[in-house]
Amino acid sequence: MICFFNGQFHSLSNIKVSPFDRGFLFADGVYESIRTYNGKLFRYEDHLDRLKRSLKETKIDYKKVDLLEKIICELIKKNNIEREALVYLQITRGSAKKRTHHFPVEEISPTVFISAQEFKKNTQAQERGVKVILQEDIRWLRCDIKSTSLLPVVLANQKAKEENAAEAILVRDGLITEGTHTNFFAVKDETVYTAPKSRLILEGITRKIVLEFCDKFKIDFREEFINKDELKNYNEFFITSTTKEITPIIEIDFWKINQGEPGKITRSLQAVFNKVAEDY
Ligand code: PMP
Repeated sequence: MICFFNGQFHSLSNIKVSPFDRGFLFADGVYESIRTYNGKLFRYEDHLDRLKRSLKETKIDYKKVDLLEKIICELIKKNNIEREALVYLQITRGSAKKRTHHFPVEEISPTVFISAQEFKKNTQAQERGVKVILQEDIRWLRCDIKSTSLLPVVLANQKAKEENAAEAILVRDGLITEGTHTNFFAVKDETVYTAPKSRLILEGITRKIVLEFCDKFKIDFREEFINKDELKNYNEFFITSTTKEITPIIEIDFWKINQGEPGKITRSLQAVFNKVAEDY
């Protein structure tokens, strides 16, 4: 596999990262996952804007963001990816001579790593729907930043895996925030609900797309927190992300929703999404 690392393309086995890299020592970095449809980067501008925002909020001074699109396209070509690609891009604060909690006093340059791999979506999960579990949201209070400090969601997602669930949905003070790597939606009385934009969730690009669809097709939606104890008042649920697109939820903590059938509004949003992806 060919990857991009600090200004050059290398084969993966030739890339060396210093143990003093702040990404390694402190998870002091940010990232993006981007995919292609019909070989074209999907909603690249949105990913770029979010990356710029994450860099700004973490005060990582990386000036070459505008060159990334060209590098990513070249990387996809170099890896001979025939169908769709999933691109992972990470920028850490860089590697210093000494481990200090504060930013290094000497000038350092950010470490940039990009990979591109063949991507196949999980059609079965999208058609049949998935099981999820609820877990306490123990993350920090800047979940709006796409930071590589992901241990709380690693643990929650591992718990989901152990229980044969596809995702863990996080609950903070009784309110549902989002999934470990997805946004969470519920439907009640033909109205779509999802947690509001705030420091408690990541503003997913697929979330944004779903809300654009709701606007366009006159489906009512509200950006409001859903109370964990009121879940049974809703009759459809789904999660969204770049890789999971719109995936129906058919079971939450052993509660089987609609006899395990994905909901009607979920299905129509999926159909619109598939059409947009097909025509992209
Ligand atoms: N929330 C979290 C915490 C995530 O990590 C992700 C995946 N990046 C999402 C939501 C979904 O975002 P997107 O639709 O941009 O993939």
